[in-house]
Amino acid sequence: MEARAGQAVIELLQGDITEQDTEAIVNAANRTLLGGGGVDGAIHRAAGPQLLSECRTLGGCETGDAKITRGYKMKARHVIHTVGPVYHSAGQKAPELLARCYRRSLEVASENNLKSIAFPSISTGAYGYPLREAAPIALKTVADYLNSHEGIQTVRFILFGKEAYEAYEEALKDLLQEKAL
Ligand code: ADP
Repeated sequence: MEARAGQAVIELLQGDITEQDTEAIVNAANRTLLGGGGVDGAIHRAAGPQLLSECRTLGGCETGDAKITRGYKMKARHVIHTVGPVYHSAGQKAPELLARCYRRSLEVASENNLKSIAFPSISTGAYGYPLREAAPIALKTVADYLNSHEGIQTVRFILFGKEAYEAYEEALKDLLQEKAL
C-alpha cells in the first residue's frame, strides 16, 4: 500500500530492511550503538564488521535521537541509527519519544540530502511497544514531517511479517480517512 504526503510517497512493504535499496535504512538500535538482536543484529550481519567499528566512534545515542553511519556491504549507502523507547520503562513519555525517533531520523536524512529512507517498526520488538499503538504514531509523525519539509521523496516502512504489515496498513487507512496526510 502507498499514500502521498506533501511531495513524497509513503510506502508500506512486508520484507527485510537489510535488502532495501533506499539511500538510507534506519536501525532500531540500543543506546550503546554496539549491536543487539532483532533488526539491529540483522543490519550488523548484513553490513559487515566495519559498521561496528564506525559505531564505536559515535559514543552511543540517547533515546529519541539519531546518528548516521555508512552502510558498508548493504545496498543502502547509509544507516541512520535511532533508539526507541522501552515501552514499559518510558511510561507516559513513550509516544513522544517514539515520535522523536522518526522525526530525528528524517532530520538526519535531510541534513545529508538523502531522498529515500526505509524504516523498520521501531520499538515494537524487544522494546515491547504494541504494534497497534506504534503504527499510527510512526505514520503520523512521518506524514507531518513530509508535509512541512521538501527533499525526501520516498519513505518506506519495511514491516517484518504479516501482523506488522496489517497494523501499519490499518493505521495508514485511518489517516487517509481522517484526511490527516
Ligand atoms: P526494538 O528493540 O526497537 O523493539 P527490534 O529489532 O526488537 O527493535 O524490533 C523492531 C521491529 O523490527 C520488530 O517489529 C521486528 O519484527 C522487526 N524486525 C526484525 N528484523 C527485521 C528485519 N530484518 N527487517 C525489518 N524489520 C525487522
